[in-house]
Amino acid sequence: MSDTSVLPADAVRIRGLTKTYAGSKSAPPKEALKGVDLTIPRGSMFGLLGPNGAGKSTLINILAGVVNKSGGEVSVWGRDLDRDPRGVRAALGVVPQEISADVFFTPREALEVQAGFYGVPANRRRSDELLAALGLADKAGAYVRALSGGMKRRLMVAKALVHNPPILILDEPTAGVDVELRRQLWAYVRELNAAGVTVILTTHYLEEAQELCDTIAIVNRGEVVACEPTPVLLRRLDTRNVVVVPEGELAAVPELEGFEASARPGGAFAVTYRKGHGSVEQVLAAVRAAGVTIQDVSTEDPDLEDVFVALTYGDASRPDPTRD
Ligand code: ADP
Ligand code: MG
Repeated sequence: MSDTSVLPADAVRIRGLTKTYAGSKSAPPKEALKGVDLTIPRGSMFGLLGPNGAGKSTLINILAGVVNKSGGEVSVWGRDLDRDPRGVRAALGVVPQEISADVFFTPREALEVQAGFYGVPANRRRSDELLAALGLADKAGAYVRALSGGMKRRLMVAKALVHNPPILILDEPTAGVDVELRRQLWAYVRELNAAGVTVILTTHYLEEAQELCDTIAIVNRGEVVACEPTPVLLRRLDTRNVVVVPEGELAAVPELEGFEASARPGGAFAVTYRKGHGSVEQVLAAVRAAGVTIQDVSTEDPDLEDVFVALTYGDASRPDPTRD
């Protein structure tokens, strides 16, 4: 339906996206997305980075049409998800997080079936080309169940590409893929991106997002807490933890002015600050101001979860992204 000669400026535009999973007898309803705004420029290599349970797969699955959104607006390649779901589907190749294998097909058959599903005419199919590109040429006629996890995942990537979509989405593509295959997969994804394909990938590894993506959105607890060009974001992620052992026992983790503290075993607590927007000095001053007497202090590099927490809280200490 849409005019394919006019390319949209943005591959994906999401406004106010919400998703609440209905609860059951044993589980309360779960608000997985709390009003997400996201713009993914055409041609970008875009990373959705966040810890497990952040809502990444929920967002991807809404785009893919396998989860219904609760509210908000989604447009993919200029097509509205509510008005033109088929148009959206045609614009996307999605590699889901879970490895699924068609046990009754060979890889070549699996690609042919998928191409048929997308209505790709026989003379425009490129099963063998895709199998070769993903290093599966010699497995074209093998039983899929005989493939390793990494091979199955690469087959899933091939399946996602049978209809030549302008957007490729990979949900946690590294799971179950060994280091060598990961290199190959990334090399191929980079090639696709260089050829103009917009690539969106989710990961909970900062390293992976950092290595591959030109833009990174950080998702935590159903919210986008940062979305920036990778180098800008990396400067902001330059954080450290101060671990404080208080004198005596505290009833609770102290409320600190300008910082967020989290409990550690043995009555200690950790405070995360961003270099350039705080210092050990300032953290300790805030701790003392909260009435805590300090017995011992150490510093450490934070893990990603600490970083997410630091980005999610403490708006007062959050740098103005327009000033970087
Ligand atoms: P991520 O991919 O970032 O790990 P998910 O989107 O899978 O996060 O999950 C986000 C939240 O929604 C989690 O708390 C998860 O437990 C919950 N969730 C995901 N899928 C379902 C579902 N089908 N029913 C109920 N809750 C779900
Ligand atoms: Mg997931």
